[in-house]
Amino acid sequence: MGIEEKIPDSIILTTVNKMVNWSRKYSIWPLGFGLACCAIEMMSTFASHFDLARFGMEVMRPSPRQADLMIVAGRVSMKMAPVVRTLYEQMPNPKWVIAMGSCASCGGVFNNYAVLQGVDRIIPVDIYVPGCPPRPEQLIDGIIKLQDKIDKSSVKDKHDEWGRKSV
Ligand code: SF4
Repeated sequence: MGIEEKIPDSIILTTVNKMVNWSRKYSIWPLGFGLACCAIEMMSTFASHFDLARFGMEVMRPSPRQADLMIVAGRVSMKMAPVVRTLYEQMPNPKWVIAMGSCASCGGVFNNYAVLQGVDRIIPVDIYVPGCPPRPEQLIDGIIKLQDKIDKSSVKDKHDEWGRKSV
């Protein structure tokens, strides 16, 4: 059989970059953990009513080695901060972080010595989702914005030890 018969009627032309970004943004695996009340809304987002599976990211991973998205859902106590940092460092590159809710973003109403005033003091944050707590729709909106960000990335991007894109 000649090559003409083996090739189907239609051919799709694309680039490696578009292919990789497409597969990455529709197969994000979040790390399964929650810190406070925001985590209840996050769990709701993953449940059937909101159905995050529509976006290809319902597979929560129990190990940071298998996860590429950290959703920081809730306030980060000073005691928990080194644990969050360690979990982040154990995730492989490329990896992303969503700060869910005002506590994770800036400490929220807990302006005191026991609570970290924003998780971006210990790890880089890609998307901030406002609210106390944010509704599942808001978290989904943040996730869609993260997908847009991933879509604009390049497979040639290099990452530093913080997981940030380095020049
Ligand atoms: S932002 Fe509000 S709901 Fe979320 S962890 Fe803080 S106090 Fe709880």
